[in-house]
Amino acid sequence: MIRKIRILPPHEALKIAAGEVIERPAHVVKELVENALDAHATTIDIFIEQVGKQRIQVIDNGHGMTKEDALLCFLPHATSKITNIDDLEHIHSFGFRGEALASIAAISKVTLITKSHFAAVDDLGIKLIYTQNALQDEAVIACSTGTNIQVDDLFYTTPVRKKFLKQDETEWNAITQAIQVFCLSYPQVHFRLLHNNKIQLNTPPVDTIKQRVTQLWDYQSTQHLMPLADEDAIQQKSSRSFSISGYISNHQFWRYNRQHIYFFINKRWVKNTELTKSLIKGYLDVLPAQRYPAATIFIDIDAHSIDINIHPKKEEVKFANPGAIQTAITHLVRKTLEKNVSSKLSPIAHAQYTEVNNTIPKQPIIAHTTEPLIIKASSFLSTNNNSTQLNPHIQNSIQLPLQQDQNLPKLIGSIFNTYILFEIDNELVIIDQHAAHERILYEKYQKQFNAQQGITVLFPEIITIDQQFLEGLLNYKHFFTQQGIDFDLLGAKDLIIRTLPPQFKNGISIKEFIIDAAHFIHEHHHIDAALFKKNFNEHLHAQMACKGAVKAGDILTKEQMNQIIIDLKKVDNRFICAHGRPTLWSFSKYELERHFKRC
Ligand code: ADP
Ligand code: MG
Repeated sequence: MIRKIRILPPHEALKIAAGEVIERPAHVVKELVENALDAHATTIDIFIEQVGKQRIQVIDNGHGMTKEDALLCFLPHATSKITNIDDLEHIHSFGFRGEALASIAAISKVTLITKSHFAAVDDLGIKLIYTQNALQDEAVIACSTGTNIQVDDLFYTTPVRKKFLKQDETEWNAITQAIQVFCLSYPQVHFRLLHNNKIQLNTPPVDTIKQRVTQLWDYQSTQHLMPLADEDAIQQKSSRSFSISGYISNHQFWRYNRQHIYFFINKRWVKNTELTKSLIKGYLDVLPAQRYPAATIFIDIDAHSIDINIHPKKEEVKFANPGAIQTAITHLVRKTLEKNVSSKLSPIAHAQYTEVNNTIPKQPIIAHTTEPLIIKASSFLSTNNNSTQLNPHIQNSIQLPLQQDQNLPKLIGSIFNTYILFEIDNELVIIDQHAAHERILYEKYQKQFNAQQGITVLFPEIITIDQQFLEGLLNYKHFFTQQGIDFDLLGAKDLIIRTLPPQFKNGISIKEFIIDAAHFIHEHHHIDAALFKKNFNEHLHAQMACKGAVKAGDILTKEQMNQIIIDLKKVDNRFICAHGRPTLWSFSKYELERHFKRC
């Protein structure tokens, strides 16, 4: 066969180039909102129909375009933002390649209505209709200053691309994530997002990122956010070409994936695994392995120290000096976490804590109680019967050899039905009953790894699973069986639960448990098989421990409290729970006396 070189006609070449910029509806949304922000809009309305496959419309109150600019803006390389490559060094806008509108117009039907801020109030604006990058209609129209772009029938010229779109839910998630990141970096802009005419997001202007986060996330999560205090940036401004600000979650918050971690460079959202790694490094010893914090971090940096031109969608960034930024992030995260923990402690504990110089004080805070904690065995082994109602696994634990009657911890009682107080060896020790019990159960499950016998349930529960998670769950069914959970597929996407581990008797929601595990598989299944096995089992055990443990607010008997004290003493990692929270604090008699000025 003889091959001949052909030059592709421009409209075909454009369609191919469009594929680099626009792979899915969310990319159109992103490009249009970026243009609106570049035009200094303060109100941006986004109307989506059928997850963007049918229509994406963005209306802004920015500076708009003149008729001449409107006619030019759909041409390839039409940009008002740079004139030559050297301008890239100083660029402060999102756009600069001048290819977004040209690409969008190559693969959809576009209607543009715009009026420039240079026009008089009663001047008319312009309306242009493009299909396949060819101008179909042009008209003058009464409109307000700003731009209204409507993109219909996306990918109608590239049916193959359309076929590769993901499920509606996935495409919608990508759109909401794209909008959320703009919301985070532009708190003073009013965004409204509507899907099929229903309002999904409405963020009136606010002053701070924290207020913006509260508009976007659930209230509970935002309670765990702390501002990053980048004092170094203020002090060393001259020697450092960047500054870091934003919010990170404290040690009481974690997620199974990195979806709550956002980095912005000069207000532009970027994906950079090295930055994420440096953040997670800051949480070492604070969050358990494979658990992730939430963070919204802004890095302001001289434009000439970065290259954002390396990725067609401008989502990645290259730093001239990545090491310095990564070190600064890790350091700042540690410092912020440290400050948060220490501010919650009394001045005395703080002194002790800073000496230790560790984010979550483990060993040192209980230094005086690490000598053998000996409990009079008869005090809790004998009277189990009346405590079985509350939480049976507390009694199921260990059989202790009878100890010598010396050096006993003296149980003081509980406060707020949450903390167990006891005295030992001139120390006041406070245990968080949930965190401690969770650690005890976690260690127990880890030890009896692969050895759980399930109990057949009388009325099997049926759980509907999202298609994208179903395959993962079925592939890893044997992991669940090892934990005593047996299920089968029922119909297309329902699971029927046949057996449960004994601890699920206590009203633990198997549905919540399975769905959480499904997310974990979805997020981690691509990692090395042995590591996945280890992490997944840890995950299941942490979940079971968390769900099975007594809760804050549960009323415990004296025997149960004593049992927790003695069990905690015996387990590994007893100073933090499976989620990284401390299980106990202690104050020495000496510290208390100093506090009350007795010495
Ligand atoms: P870029 O943003 O890289 O310059 P685009 O293809 O996204 O390229 O846009 C081309 C040009 O059209 C922009 O440079 C800008 O001058 C103009 N433009 C696009 N959208 C808007 C808008 N919403 N408001 C004002 N001008 C716009
Ligand atoms: Mg643009």
